[in-house]
Amino acid sequence: MPITDAIKKQIAQKRLLFSKICMRCGSKNSIAAYRCRRCHSGDLRLKNRALGAKK
Ligand SMILES: [Zn+2]
Repeated sequence: MPITDAIKKQIAQKRLLFSKICMRCGSKNSIAAYRCRRCHSGDLRLKNRALGAKK
């Protein structure tokens, strides 16, 4: 189901793009996080996805 509301879409994309993913457990952390909130490892990567990559 496509999201038709432009503002909601923007928020969703921001949440998806501006986050860090733990390399160890794969959980999503905030952009400001430098340790995983779940397993406390420092192996975080930036979630850098091009806009509209997922259809
Ligand atoms: Zn983790």
